Amino acid sequence: MRARVLPSLTDPRSQLLITFVVNDRVAIDAGALAFHLTGEALLAVQDIVLTHVHLDHIASLPFIFSEMFADIRAPVRIHATAADIERLHRHIFNDVIWPDFTRLRNAHGELLTFSPFAWREPFEVADLRLTAIPVTHTVETAGIIIEDPQGACVAFTSDTGVTDEFWAALNALPRLDAVFVDVAFDNANEPVATASRHLSPRLLASELTKLNRPTQVLAVNLKPFCRERVIDEIMALDLPNVKVAALDVDYAW
Ligand SMILES: [Zn+2]
Repeated sequence: MRARVLPSLTDPRSQLLITFVVNDRVAIDAGALAFHLTGEALLAVQDIVLTHVHLDHIASLPFIFSEMFADIRAPVRIHATAADIERLHRHIFNDVIWPDFTRLRNAHGELLTFSPFAWREPFEVADLRLTAIPVTHTVETAGIIIEDPQGACVAFTSDTGVTDEFWAALNALPRLDAVFVDVAFDNANEPVATASRHLSPRLLASELTKLNRPTQVLAVNLKPFCRERVIDEIMALDLPNVKVAALDVDYAW
């Protein structure tokens, strides 16, 4: 399995917008997806899994269907909770903020379909098995576990503060190769992290004590204004398996 953190905009260090691409085929969130990928690379992403509907996770989603309107050959599947699908209909694809692309057709047919997932019940996306586990954020948010047919397993916390069920779920997996963890704020901004349900390096260290197995830990979602301090504070944790994820680089397991 391969996974890549997409950069947001022109500054490759910025993670203003959140998207991971797995095997060039499946996106976890769509904050940066259509701003960073174009043409065939964007068309190759046929499944988008939304962890929650905060703007930094869905910002580019509406533009996929306007920019690629004529080129979409099979409907893009958007996987989300039933509640988030309803929110996208009501607030984004509502014929006011943006056209309701679920009703429009191009020469090949439908442009997108919504596919609801249930908490804790594995669902198939491409040849991958995904499981959504609730994490702790200001809105309902899914941490995602992905297992491939060869047994590789990678997890994404999405946006989360201090949480328990997600770590317990990781402990119960037969194999865990890596986990991408939200570390949005530096330690000095821990009150902001706590209020907005994100982690700081100090909170990360505390959370990782809940994980009872060795695994690669890749910190993501660093806020641009405190990115350098978060990097320094993660290095100061002196945990050899914990690194800040490089952007636009394929990690492979
Ligand atoms: Zn969020």
